[in-house]
Amino acid sequence: MNKQKSIALVAHDNRKKDLIEWVRFNKDKLRGHLITCTGTTGKLVEEELNRDTLGHPLLVKRMKSGPLGGDQQLGAMIAEGKIDIMVFFWDPMSMQPHDVDVKALLRLTVLYNVVTASNRATADFIISSHLFDEDYEVRLKDYSGYIQRTLE
Ligand code: PGA
Repeated sequence: MNKQKSIALVAHDNRKKDLIEWVRFNKDKLRGHLITCTGTTGKLVEEELNRDTLGHPLLVKRMKSGPLGGDQQLGAMIAEGKIDIMVFFWDPMSMQPHDVDVKALLRLTVLYNVVTASNRATADFIISSHLFDEDYEVRLKDYSGYIQRTLE
């Protein structure tokens, strides 16, 4: 991944406040990176990033809302190597109508070795790592044996 990171930001409703607080705190560090969000999260993140700032507005790429396919759209971006870091504050206390999509998205982050935070402490460690501001070689597991497997 390059110095300029492609960052996905997502939060379930009960955790949106926490994510926006994290964005507010890290506004300066986030500027200059490419940010993609699910629909509702993206609206709030964009508002926060552009609050009290003059000059060019910072645009956030917004997918559909999570339950309407947004998580799957992010998953597709991960499969295409288009996301480096994902901060996803998912709600550990409520059932989600799109639970299977959430699981699928988290599964792909593991498969594609995406830097992932589900809570504030991990997100803080990631954004304050020196690797956040450097190039980094992401190593992917070799699945060629699986792809070329023989089928009866
Ligand atoms: P939202 O989706 O940002 O549109 O609320 C988040 C999610 O549920 O994955």
